[in-house]
Amino acid sequence: MKKVIFFMTALCLVLSPLKAQDYWNTEIISVAKNQDNIKKLMKMNLDLLMEWNNRIYIIAGFNDFFKLQKENISFAPETLNFYPYKQSEVSLQEGLNGRYHSYAELERDLLALQDSYSNIARVIDMGDSLEGRNIYALKISDNVYQDEQEAEVFFVGCHHAREWISVEVPFLLGKYLVENYETNSQVKDLVDKCEIWIVPLLNPDGLEYSIHFYRYWRKNRRDNGDGSFGVDLNRNYSYNWGLDNEGSSPFPSSNVYRGPSAFSEPETQIIRDLFAQRNFQAVISYHNYSQIILYPWGYTNQPTSEAQLLDQIAGDMSGLMQAVNGKVYEYGQAGADLYLTNGGMIDWTFGTYNIPSYTLELPPIDEEHGGFFNAEEDIQPIFNENLQAMLYLIDWTVQNFNSGINPSTRRERRYGLRANLKDKNQFGREARDEGEDNAPMQNSKVKYNDLKTSNINSYATGSKSEIADFGIKRTHTANKANRLQYIPEQ
Ligand SMILES: [Zn+2]
Repeated sequence: MKKVIFFMTALCLVLSPLKAQDYWNTEIISVAKNQDNIKKLMKMNLDLLMEWNNRIYIIAGFNDFFKLQKENISFAPETLNFYPYKQSEVSLQEGLNGRYHSYAELERDLLALQDSYSNIARVIDMGDSLEGRNIYALKISDNVYQDEQEAEVFFVGCHHAREWISVEVPFLLGKYLVENYETNSQVKDLVDKCEIWIVPLLNPDGLEYSIHFYRYWRKNRRDNGDGSFGVDLNRNYSYNWGLDNEGSSPFPSSNVYRGPSAFSEPETQIIRDLFAQRNFQAVISYHNYSQIILYPWGYTNQPTSEAQLLDQIAGDMSGLMQAVNGKVYEYGQAGADLYLTNGGMIDWTFGTYNIPSYTLELPPIDEEHGGFFNAEEDIQPIFNENLQAMLYLIDWTVQNFNSGINPSTRRERRYGLRANLKDKNQFGREARDEGEDNAPMQNSKVKYNDLKTSNINSYATGSKSEIADFGIKRTHTANKANRLQYIPEQ
């Protein structure tokens, strides 16, 4: 306890003079992960960062320290262990954000893609962010300036400012598609048959703030009028918006503040309006981190009516990703028993449009060394392992669209095609053990994909506690469901 009080005092001394400046007003701390703390923390509306090594990491604001003290929860400061970069890893000539895109760099690179591949790439300014930056969509298709009767799929990144890798992965998808269109028949086929919409950066104001002022900034930059800033864009969608105060917060200073009303923010309005104009058949929203594929519902632990299909597609994507670098992306329903979210994008896209909708939490580089952020040299490998899942989902929309579904009715019919999916092998589905689809999930909504091929041993369904064979050090305990409770990055 003495130790805690010492830290409290030290932090207060550091923080008090800067109280009004929210970007200095937080520290990363960790608390022991035990049932007592879990129970208390769930009620405290904290910005939970991750859990690792039996500790729960929290981004704590000034008032949070008092809350923790009141609940008699001891904590350790961790901020210094999360310094975004080792200096040697920064490409100084490329600015504070290194090889990650800033707003201006992304704009430049998107327009360059349009210039170089004007037959299949088109940059569309969909409207302004709160601070007046353009929110761009990259549309990729043949006859890109026409609205053809084709399948449509949507990828979006960076609802949350500090999740820089979530800009890179969807951007690199666009780059990959246009650069390989002429030489890769699979890519050409997908681009010809589908209208692929990519919004790499939904929250440009937040990203710029994260680059220049405060690396851990999450929300947009709404002036809430009470001295606090920001609405959590991924709590601002209308489906069950504000359902309760656990899945989102009514308090403006909270990092999961849902805003004064659904779609109060220009950034989410842009998504709402785009969906009203398009006919998307599937969606992935990129976040980081925790290396997991989540599907609706997020607001409840009850399954959707299409749980089987959502789970199957997630499992396929997980398997394809694992086959690239051996990295395991768990998958499961977003609304684990105790960690619920409301006002999130994928609940809205699924609830409103009934389309397969995923939150894809990208990986960290290495938890063991305390690295919250991916190193620059990991951008490309992370994209590479995600690419196969992206191509698979694009293909899924094409297969569904081309199977005689009338655009006006296809929403009702697209879920009848599960058998087609199972028979389809071009993206490696044959690598999966078909029997696994019906295996029960044990004690958890989170599953590990079960690739039973060649030298990859089975480790699914919680039977093995550690995945060491693939160089993945994270320990998977029997209590897997708990992992989801502490990762509010979605
Ligand atoms: Zn996020």
